[in-house]
Amino acid sequence: MKNKLIIAIDGPVGSGKSTVARRVADLLGYTHLDSGAMYRAIGWKALCEKISLDSPDELAAMASRARIDLLPGDGRQRVILDGEDITGWIRTTEVSHAASVVAAIPGVRHPLVAEQRRAGERGGVVMEGRDIGSVVFPHADLKIYLDASPEVRAGRRWQELREKGEAADPLIVLAGVHERDRRDRERKMSPLVRAADAVVVDNSAMDAEETARVIVMMAEERAKGKSVTSGS
Ligand code: C5P
Repeated sequence: MKNKLIIAIDGPVGSGKSTVARRVADLLGYTHLDSGAMYRAIGWKALCEKISLDSPDELAAMASRARIDLLPGDGRQRVILDGEDITGWIRTTEVSHAASVVAAIPGVRHPLVAEQRRAGERGGVVMEGRDIGSVVFPHADLKIYLDASPEVRAGRRWQELREKGEAADPLIVLAGVHERDRRDRERKMSPLVRAADAVVVDNSAMDAEETARVIVMMAEERAKGKSVTSGS
């Protein structure tokens, strides 16, 4: 495809964003960027450095010092923090919680959003998160709001934890999903919202492959439209 798009995929925890975004990027030959991994890296660093999650100024200062590199890996993208590969450490329940707390702090979001813009500005990118279509790339070529029912999303999260050998009570996982939804939607800065021009894709009854193919079809349509308007 000649006209390389910026594709924004936003949605709540467990909506399947990562798997779907990765697959869409594969099918289109684009770069995949998981912005949540950056907030997870900051959450992880806060826990390692024993910075209180109640200290927004300290957390913001730490975030502006941190160097995060996202590299393509086999399957999931690799997350390098200050030169150390932390990919395997940032998907625990504890880091999920810390990530969602630090993500509510404006001084943490600013440097990460700037980095996300730099990484995606040339197009040919599928970026996933909570505020990609609303804040990071308000002029993205295609915005998807991916959703599924809370029960389906909690079920996926529970399965993911089980596969990693983390025993979890399904009701506690569901409560965690509700809690992170609430924090993501109610925070003052860049809350999780559906951008007015986003296409809502509810994948409660679709698997990741079907969801990705639906999005690729939309991307191909948008790219055709773009080549007509740009005259290429
Ligand atoms: O997508 P993931 O669950 O890995 O994101 C971890 C946390 O980072 C989320 O709970 C959310 O609070 C935050 N996040 C965000 N903005 C983004 C991506 C993630 O606030 N663009």
